[in-house]
Amino acid sequence: MVEHLDVLATMDERGSELADAWVLANEGEIVGLGTGVAPAGVGRRVDGHGLVAVPGLVNTHHHFFQTLTRCLPAAQDERILEWLGTNYTFWSRIDEEAVYTTARVAIGELLLSGCTTSSDHLYAFPKSSAGATSMLGAEIAAAAELGMRFQATRGAMDVSQEAGGGPPQELIEDTDAVLENMEEVVGKFHDPMPGSMVRVALAPCSVTICSERLMIESGELARRLGVTRHTHVAEVREEVEHCAEVYGRRPVERLEDLGWLGDDVWLAHVVHANASDISLLAASGTGVSHCPSSNMRLGSGAAPVLEMGDAGVAVGLGVDGSASNDSGNLLAEARQAMLLSRVSGSGDRLMPARHALRLATNGGAKVLKRDDIGVLEIGRRADIAFFSLSGIAGAGTEHDPVAALVLAPPRGATHVMVDGRFAVWDGHLMVDEASIVSEHQALVRRITRRIKK
Ligand SMILES: [Zn+2]
Repeated sequence: MVEHLDVLATMDERGSELADAWVLANEGEIVGLGTGVAPAGVGRRVDGHGLVAVPGLVNTHHHFFQTLTRCLPAAQDERILEWLGTNYTFWSRIDEEAVYTTARVAIGELLLSGCTTSSDHLYAFPKSSAGATSMLGAEIAAAAELGMRFQATRGAMDVSQEAGGGPPQELIEDTDAVLENMEEVVGKFHDPMPGSMVRVALAPCSVTICSERLMIESGELARRLGVTRHTHVAEVREEVEHCAEVYGRRPVERLEDLGWLGDDVWLAHVVHANASDISLLAASGTGVSHCPSSNMRLGSGAAPVLEMGDAGVAVGLGVDGSASNDSGNLLAEARQAMLLSRVSGSGDRLMPARHALRLATNGGAKVLKRDDIGVLEIGRRADIAFFSLSGIAGAGTEHDPVAALVLAPPRGATHVMVDGRFAVWDGHLMVDEASIVSEHQALVRRITRRIKK
């Protein structure tokens, strides 16, 4: 029981917000919420004075392993193709241990920002590594250890383009082996039940670095296995030019040709989308993961998120990989989404703070096709982020504490509950943060040394 919350923003369809609120969780589920005096006779009671409660934030796109190459000097001012080329030098040397170590940093950072569910797009499986099953297993173990609800995805790249920023041979997988492994990891890790803490989606990297056969057959496989699908699309203008030249289609149309639009699909970026692309996404029920920081950092552009929302497309937020954001703070991402929309949108319409907060919560849940999270209401899982507006940065924001979460500079969450358990308490993870950081420092040194050899 958390009681006497200043405000509880449910993020339900009506946008209900409760003042002097309480919320009660039992066995991972929200079993009661209301205002004023909370019911007696419950177990642990937490004082919520000074706190704002919102649904746990949902991160729909990430590459945990990229914490390895944050702020890499050579890649700081590069656009995506050159940036990829620089980063592959490091990524082609990761192994199971690197995946585990980077995942703990990425997940810890997300949790501290109020995020309770994250997806991760893991697509770098060097030939020298133990392979995708053990690497996916390593990040699933990290999520369980830190207490994050997790949407793993089995990424893949099977087309090498030695020129132009394509992946090196070390990261290229055999198409048949990928398809076989995709079925294996779904069988091993995927839990389809409501309230599930681990789900697996199939995620070939993009139409430009995956073969037509991998795209088509992984899509068919996902449908046969009853799992969702994820890929990158329309991130940069070069991709639009490539698809026009090679296929005579726009990137979203190319996905349609490959059977890759549908209500079991969510797509990262979709920066370069016109009205007809947006109609295709809406009509097919395809979700979009909007990654504003990454799109700004790499100079990729600004996705038309308000227009997508108007058309009925489900839109959520993603921090994208840590090497193209240099951060994994999802509350910061909500602020970036609001600000980027305000400078890039057509007309005079300004994205409201609550709209951005909805993208970060309920929007993300819809994108990941989960109806058991994303709203604070009885029967949903107890995934809740609690923020304090105390201190210098919060002074004056009492006019509207909910909007302040996005309008004011992002703050760390005070407490974060995932499936009824606290994964963050009083601004700290429930695991040893110092060892997470020191092990990551050792990893960066180890891989950098290997590159220099
Ligand atoms: Zn990405």
